Amino acid sequence: MEIHELTAKETAKAIKDKKFSAVEAVRSSMARISKYDGVVNALITVLEEDALRRAGEIDALIARGEDPGPLAGVPYIVKDNFCTRGVRTTCSSHILENWKPTYNASPVNYMNAAGAILMAKSNLDEFAMGSSTENSIIGPTKNPRDLGRVPGGSSGGSAAAVASGYVPLALGTDTGGSVRQPAAFCGIQGIKPSYGEVSRYGIIAYCSALDQVSPLARSVEDLALAMEILARPDPNDTTCDGYARPKFSDATAMKDLKGCRIGVFAGFEASEMDSDLYGALTRAGDICREAGAVIEPIDLPIAVKYGVATYYVTALADASSKLGCYDGIRYGTHIEGATLADMYANTRTSSFSEEVRRRIILGACLLTEGFYQNYYGPALKVRTKMAEEFEDVFSKYDAYLLPTTPSLPYPLGTKETDPNRMYLGDVFTVPISLGGLPGLSLSMGFNSANLPLSVQIVGSRYGDSKVLGIAAALERLIGRPTVCDPRKLGEVA
Ligand code: GLN
Repeated sequence: MEIHELTAKETAKAIKDKKFSAVEAVRSSMARISKYDGVVNALITVLEEDALRRAGEIDALIARGEDPGPLAGVPYIVKDNFCTRGVRTTCSSHILENWKPTYNASPVNYMNAAGAILMAKSNLDEFAMGSSTENSIIGPTKNPRDLGRVPGGSSGGSAAAVASGYVPLALGTDTGGSVRQPAAFCGIQGIKPSYGEVSRYGIIAYCSALDQVSPLARSVEDLALAMEILARPDPNDTTCDGYARPKFSDATAMKDLKGCRIGVFAGFEASEMDSDLYGALTRAGDICREAGAVIEPIDLPIAVKYGVATYYVTALADASSKLGCYDGIRYGTHIEGATLADMYANTRTSSFSEEVRRRIILGACLLTEGFYQNYYGPALKVRTKMAEEFEDVFSKYDAYLLPTTPSLPYPLGTKETDPNRMYLGDVFTVPISLGGLPGLSLSMGFNSANLPLSVQIVGSRYGDSKVLGIAAALERLIGRPTVCDPRKLGEVA
């Protein structure tokens, strides 16, 4: 196997065993980036020099017999909404296009302290608002499994980078599906942890009540390893829970699913979604049953029927107040005007894209007298009802299976101009976010046209270990995703 095909765990072990050096791992990562990123367009900033310098330090530690940590020398990538000290952090927006934070996001510090090496910052939909990574100052990222299609979003750059073998591990953020859906579209694994597992300190907010840092990888074991490094209390983020986390890697040793009770979503007809994805859900249920689990159909009537509406009302209201800080004074781009109000208007009108402006305006509107009572208030009530529905499910089951997405990755440019169609694609991911639950998108191989299939495994709040355990047991039976050489579907690699 070549270096770029290894998982993060295998890479760290090989570097510690001196099979190859951290510098060689970084060179291998750079070679993939140089070869493919001109076409895939997954990265906004590449940190070659910094990465090589850091790799040299890791190699020196190993030569002295010291342990650089569980991710010794493993190249990784973060989405460009993670603050990185002295390194441009754009959020894919003109408003921050030249902004350099003075500090690192906590998750970046944790990864670095574990020996991982930051290679690059990846593309996203502006301010993490979107599902296709098309709405960006650097233009769309392409799906490496078929360059004519979207990679999903908003963490599409991180997902495409992992699928293309730039790095074995990348971080994104998932508010309503932004890691699970691109993982599904790019044929890899991704987990949104329970809300409160991982610190959001230094993550540029879209909707603080739902945003969660989420890893992407080509194996469930790597997701567990990343969780072990990322999930810990942080005094800088009061929503990051203080509880003592379990050892997530232990969960992935689960050999079979005996004694597990798993619900399989049966609230949709096959005709209401892509038939191959429906088939993948059924197959995942069958595999769980063969592995010893008790499988039963479940319905989630409130979550599925009202999830999208509830999510967009609450998320947009939150976003409109979060994005108020971009006033042309404190941060980023500043465009003059005759009066202060003109300056605000000039700066914000020309620096935010149409989609971000739409969300700010809708969100502000939802918080005004009348709209608040008719929409925002009821949305909060529906969220409570949804939580009750989830509680009821978890009183009977350890986990449940749900599709990650209702559709396969679609051709570039087909939904960008139709926000409603784009939003409806989030039907299976947003309810999980509203419940604060952990959700893992697992690769289920490919359909006959070679497009990636997936299933979502959902657990109870802070039941992340169980989700990882079930995912690892399934992955052993299905096989873990491999790296692809980016290409157009039908073209021979
Ligand atoms: N697609 C959803 C949205 O546009 C989710 C985005 C996300 O999780 N950051 O809001």
